[in-house]
Amino acid sequence: MMQRVGFYPGSFDPITNGHLDIIHRALALVDRLVIGVGAHHSKSGLFSPSERLSLLKSCAEAEGNQGQIDLVTFDGLVVDAMRDHGARIMIRGLRDTTDYNYEMQMAGMNTTMAEDTQVVFLPASPSVRHIAASLVRQIAVLGGDITPFVPGNVAVAVATKIKERT
Ligand code: ADP
Repeated sequence: MMQRVGFYPGSFDPITNGHLDIIHRALALVDRLVIGVGAHHSKSGLFSPSERLSLLKSCAEAEGNQGQIDLVTFDGLVVDAMRDHGARIMIRGLRDTTDYNYEMQMAGMNTTMAEDTQVVFLPASPSVRHIAASLVRQIAVLGGDITPFVPGNVAVAVATKIKERT
């Protein structure tokens, strides 16, 4: 039988408990999950793509069985990255209507470009639905406690990064 390969793209700057929830749910649907860190340049970013990838590695791999998760960076179109990795199922998380409107638009454009792609939206679990990586970055810069929102080693890495920058 054909393997179901999912592709979960995102910025993951940094990986949060919300992303981990989606990864956990996605693994119940696909045989193999490729997690793609978008390497697009972003001024408000905290970690470089390779730093984001290694933080993901430290948290995400424990979610799947041996070999079930692949971690990659990509810097063009998501549909091209998916094709390169043999994935036809795109996984995205939905928190609220803002996500919904944006994600519907992206799904429409992406599936027009790659008609053999299925986009699967997974609803955020209630316990993590409020978490956004952009707010985690802001809270950390302002000296707030981010430990309720990210894995412990990520909180440590964020604190170290912010200290380095200032
Ligand atoms: P992007 O820049 O692509 O939006 P993010 O890293 O912010 O990258 O998010 C990647 C994906 O994870 C998106 O589908 C987003 O909706 C989803 N996501 C982010 N935070 C959460 C959360 N707390 N719960 C569920 N899904 C989430």
